[in-house]
Amino acid sequence: MAESSIRSGWRRYRSVPIIYRIGAAFVLGSIFGLLFGEQAAVLQPLGDLFVRLLQMIVVPIIIFTLMMGIRQLSPSTLGKVGAQVVGIYAITSMVAVFIGLTIANLINPGSGLQLTTAEADIEEAPNFLDVILGIVPENPIEAMATGDILATIFFVIVFALGLALVGESTDNERVREGVESIFNIMEAGAEALFKVVWGIMEYGVIGVFALMAGVFGEAGADALGPFLLLMATLALAVALHITIVYLGVIIAVLTQQSPIAFLSGIKEAMVTALSISSSSATLPVSMSNAEDNLRINEGIYGFSLPLGSTINMDGTAMYQGIVAIFAANIVGVQLTITEQLVVVAIAVLASIGSAGVPSAGLILLTLVLTQLGLPLEVIGFIAGVDPVLDRLRTMTNITGDLAVATLVGHWNGEVDFETGVWAGGNGIGEAIPSDD
Ligand code: ASP
Repeated sequence: MAESSIRSGWRRYRSVPIIYRIGAAFVLGSIFGLLFGEQAAVLQPLGDLFVRLLQMIVVPIIIFTLMMGIRQLSPSTLGKVGAQVVGIYAITSMVAVFIGLTIANLINPGSGLQLTTAEADIEEAPNFLDVILGIVPENPIEAMATGDILATIFFVIVFALGLALVGESTDNERVREGVESIFNIMEAGAEALFKVVWGIMEYGVIGVFALMAGVFGEAGADALGPFLLLMATLALAVALHITIVYLGVIIAVLTQQSPIAFLSGIKEAMVTALSISSSSATLPVSMSNAEDNLRINEGIYGFSLPLGSTINMDGTAMYQGIVAIFAANIVGVQLTITEQLVVVAIAVLASIGSAGVPSAGLILLTLVLTQLGLPLEVIGFIAGVDPVLDRLRTMTNITGDLAVATLVGHWNGEVDFETGVWAGGNGIGEAIPSDD
């Protein structure tokens, strides 16, 4: 009797779409954190486990899907897709900083605040030239082992292109079969990992609850007070950027699709990014959404999403502009238009050159603030609330990656708009039926 009611309760629980369960965990975890304060930190390992599970499959999923993608694209298409992806990434990032600066100039966060000399534990921002050179790995195995995404993408593309060329040109039957087998193994591997993503998201209900409890337990409602205006500025800028640039221009106008369908197709990735504040660790979920829900060809998303997770960070770029104004207001100076244009340039370059990991945007502030001669102590000042702000930035970053993948997929005829969310489908793992 008891056993059967447990079983029916479990079945009922499982019948609620995963995104609602994770959404509820997000809200309840935040409330739990605010109620229990620092004690909520005991749950941290459960949250860390969720992030580790996702991180575990980032590198393999990039390798498998990218290999599959290259098999399907000709080298010339790959070049065209690459140029389109990088071009739009750069344009949207610039627009993001403009939006951030405009909203910050209107709201003026930081005015009236006193700078308490909080300890600033400031790491060095990456050097742009090193980032460019670092794209070519000295040792591909090391790049994969250390999770260096750009270097891994580079090697996988080069290797897969070599493999595809050998497959086309060889007279040796065994070699041709070998090439086919490698690609087939990659396809099977990618499918398997998408199934794993789905399993990880089931655990994510607990993971997200624990993560949100930890964040709000540590930040606490009181600590957030002085920063409410800064948060509101970022939230407004993010909302405008997502609505106007991604949903309006990219999805509705350029792709001619429903923004609601798009949002419904990427909700798991958005909530994951909000929960774990890392574009890179969100990649498996973004890829799964691109595959199952948005129905984009692997050839496009297998390439553009990993690349986007490190070079396309609109939320991060926008944040640089907003904090520049915030810092200027704290010390009571006015940034000139020229200085604000400098912010745009540095913010875009800095966001390209940094990894999609938690707090990357905080570290990049060193570049912007140093360039403008503003006090670096501001970074220490806002570090306490950065975990909250980071989530908004990361969610924006991955939404941008998925919007661009949809647009470039559309331009190249590589999205199946007849199925998935475009045709009213819903939910992660839908293409991979669960066996209860
Ligand atoms: N955490 C962000 C990301 O992974 C980067 C940032 O700190 O802004 O996309």
